[in-house]
Amino acid sequence: MGFRTRQIHAGVTPDPITGSILTPIYQSTTYVQPSVDEYLSKGFTYSRSGNPTVKALETKIADLEGGVDCACFGTGMSAVLATMLAFLEAGAHAIVSDVAYGGTYRLSTKILSRFGIDYTFADTADPDAVAAAVRDNTKLIFTETPANPTMKCSDIAAISEIATKAGAVHVVDNTFLSPAGQRPFALGADIVLHSTTKYINGHSDVVGGAVLARSEALVEELTWWANCLGLTGSPFDSYQTLRGLRTLSVRYRQHEENAAAVADFLERQQMVRKVYYPGLRSHNGHGLAKRQQQSFGAMISFEIAADVEEIGVFLGNLRLFTLAESLGGVESLVAHPASMTHAAMSREDQAAAGIKPSLLRLSVGIEHVDDLLADLEAGFEALRLHRKSSDVRSVA
Ligand SMILES: *Cc1c(COP(=O)(O)O)cnc(C)c1O
Repeated sequence: MGFRTRQIHAGVTPDPITGSILTPIYQSTTYVQPSVDEYLSKGFTYSRSGNPTVKALETKIADLEGGVDCACFGTGMSAVLATMLAFLEAGAHAIVSDVAYGGTYRLSTKILSRFGIDYTFADTADPDAVAAAVRDNTKLIFTETPANPTMKCSDIAAISEIATKAGAVHVVDNTFLSPAGQRPFALGADIVLHSTTKYINGHSDVVGGAVLARSEALVEELTWWANCLGLTGSPFDSYQTLRGLRTLSVRYRQHEENAAAVADFLERQQMVRKVYYPGLRSHNGHGLAKRQQQSFGAMISFEIAADVEEIGVFLGNLRLFTLAESLGGVESLVAHPASMTHAAMSREDQAAAGIKPSLLRLSVGIEHVDDLLADLEAGFEALRLHRKSSDVRSVA
């Protein structure tokens, strides 16, 4: 069945007792067992290790990603943590995209490195750089593509091959595109990971995570870790996410259509030095994105030709693009990665990853596109007026 049909029906069966068309919020910690002999006969014992509402969400996400099964987590970061802990131990080595989510970088460098895990941050856009970083003890390769915030694209199939040869698992963070925009399993990934906070839920009202695997054994391993660490998702959050997920492809199409128009608009602005969007021919990952993605997504970054004060003027004059972290919700957001999402990175690492102080990131929402373009235009116009008045002052 088609993606749009599965996004509505997968994982959800009418309640056999009441006929309720949707899976209810099973807000229960424990489950009555018929007898000692029939322990677990209904599949659930205690909500940290399994809950019917959470299960419905796991089944739906697995169906849409094409994974064997899924484990849901309380946050995207706990999904990253459990995945790293499941496949890495003291003495092991991992390769991570050099341009990755700030929290993934922080978890690796500030926490897991203290437990004897060695990390190399490699340019995953260059498969040769990944192959060169492989060591005898490399157990995991973590690719984020397109990568936050420069939208750098990495070749999932090529890196999966390198991982297989090295005996390592290949983990792909698919948060930026969701299963509506990219299917890493079809390209050879072993594990696919999501911050469901973003497009999967899509309504900026739940923080959550999910990890999927291509084999039953890998999912069992991840579920075991989620339960041991106590990082599993909650029934209420899962219910909200199930609700959001039912309209993923409809929202996504509008996100993408708006983003294409915004990227095109930005590329024509004099005060914009560079636009990072995989859908633009000028983007160095355009060809790869066209090949491996179903969609170019709705995340755009751009370098504005302005100093810190002027960036403040630009941002202060936007009404629809709200200054906030996060992404993938129906409302448009703007962020300043150097001081917000990627503040945990050192200045040198930021520079190496292309995160300049003049970089702004947009999460393009599903508002009317004309209003979004007018909003950006108002920001640029305010910037032009500000410049004119400071020129007048400096001449005086
Ligand atoms: C947001 C995000 C995460 C972390 O997820 P949380 O739900 O915020 O904990 C991980 N990876 C990417 C690419 C993200 O955008």
